[in-house]
Amino acid sequence: MNASSHYHTAIIGAGMSGLAAGIRLAHFGRRVVILERHNAPGGLNGFYSLNGRPFDVGLHAMTNFVPPGVRGTPLGKILRQLRVERDELGLRPQKQSRVTFGAAAPVSLRFSNDIGLLEAEIAREFPSQADAFRRLAADVPGLEAAPPAGLSARQIIRRRITDPLLADMLLLPLLYYGSPTPGDMDAAQFAIMFRALYLEGFARPFEGVRQIIRVLLQKYREAGGERRMKTPVKAILHDTARATALVLENGETLTADHILSTAGAPETGRLLRPPPDAEHPVGRLSFAETITLLPKLPPAWTGDTIVFFNETQNPVHEPAAGLVDTRSGVICFPNNFDYGGRDLPEGVFRCTCLANHALWDKLPPGEYHLQKQAALARLQTSARRFLPPVDDAALAPLATDMFTPKTIVRFTGRLNGAIYGSPRKIRDGRTFLSNLHLCGTDQGYLGITGALLGGITIANQRILSRP
Ligand SMILES: Cc1cc2nc3c(=O)[nH]c(=O)nc-3n(C[C@H](O)[C@H](O)[C@H](O)COP(=O)(O)OP(=O)(O)OC[C@H]3O[C@@H](n4cnc5c(N)ncnc54)[C@H](O)[C@@H]3O)c2cc1C
Repeated sequence: MNASSHYHTAIIGAGMSGLAAGIRLAHFGRRVVILERHNAPGGLNGFYSLNGRPFDVGLHAMTNFVPPGVRGTPLGKILRQLRVERDELGLRPQKQSRVTFGAAAPVSLRFSNDIGLLEAEIAREFPSQADAFRRLAADVPGLEAAPPAGLSARQIIRRRITDPLLADMLLLPLLYYGSPTPGDMDAAQFAIMFRALYLEGFARPFEGVRQIIRVLLQKYREAGGERRMKTPVKAILHDTARATALVLENGETLTADHILSTAGAPETGRLLRPPPDAEHPVGRLSFAETITLLPKLPPAWTGDTIVFFNETQNPVHEPAAGLVDTRSGVICFPNNFDYGGRDLPEGVFRCTCLANHALWDKLPPGEYHLQKQAALARLQTSARRFLPPVDDAALAPLATDMFTPKTIVRFTGRLNGAIYGSPRKIRDGRTFLSNLHLCGTDQGYLGITGALLGGITIANQRILSRP
């Protein structure tokens, strides 16, 4: 193997976790290459243009926003470890969000980046639960430090909150933004997500995810990292103890002291030659997302940033039985962040709901297109029940787009389109090969903040700490 095709670390995937790990390693002088199958970086949180208009793939919001000066937070760690100035990301806080249960007789709880709003809302809607909620919130740092073994999020909440409706309303946003498991999540993930959404909160750069990716790419480049796009990894060769080489789709072979895969645990298993004895479990939860660009966001819709909705008082968070399950979902208005007096040039109305990969996957091409249009209309009709009424004329779109689970598989390779990956997480990123590490989604580090932290953690703990 000649020296030019040998790296200290080869990273599979230019998503958030791969970029963060790459920056960390390149800062410390390691020879790093990121290999990405697509022509665009960002993975599940990329961006693209359609008919000359910019679209973000995933971004509703970045979680864990705290104002300048707050110490000891995930955002602070990311900025420090990646040597990013806060202003470079240009994060702007949300206005306010809410969770609403019941289309006929709605119960709503508003929340913002100040936990005081949620506390006041709970005191109004569920007065007998106000103290219990404060105790739950106060317990979260302890749960993060030492998650109780064997307890799920639902059990932790129900030990403190006795009203089942409030318990479900608090849980649903956490599930939507970070659970690979239907209807529940483990204790560690619960504590992380509770902090991410309720104790800290949402923010977005004015330009969307492209601003975050631009900064990450610049840091990586400046630190000397190499990046090869449109370069799928076809196989990871190994002996009994170590990964020995990477074979690229174009026939090239690379070697590296360390290989870091952000492709997912079962997906990485499928690259191994010889294949492993057993497959890591594959996630089952996938989503569809619609994006509608409007000349202007209707004034009645300028209040909420993100709305988590559920048709009845029984929360829906399970693999969809049909193409989409529109009984519950998430609405996001990227216009409704505090941009300091500026507004996005167009109105943006995004809706997300659970969807079924297998059903989308078996549709013939023409039918797929028709079903996409039908699902878009169904999801928007469902979502509008939870928003102030607006005239249909105000919603005549400039453009629309929609991701299905099939789109997610095509653009990221995530099996089943499971954006939160496998239900079995490997927190320390270890595999049975001493120099092959997993990073990002299947470490259990979810969302943009989580994926960035995952990349940093694996680079520090599994690679930089070794001789
Ligand atoms: C519709 C949608 C909405 C979302 N909304 C939000 C949000 O509002 N806020 C938030 O924080 N998070 C959101 N997320 C989740 C967030 O995007 C992910 O949790 C996070 O980006 C995962 O990052 P990652 O690096 O672990 O994985 P990925 O982003 O999946 O990156 C893995 C990369 O590896 C590449 N790859 C895979 N296999 C190979 C191979 N064989 N060879 C080469 N390259 C390969 C893929 O192409 C991909 O680029 C959303 C996701 C989606 C899909």
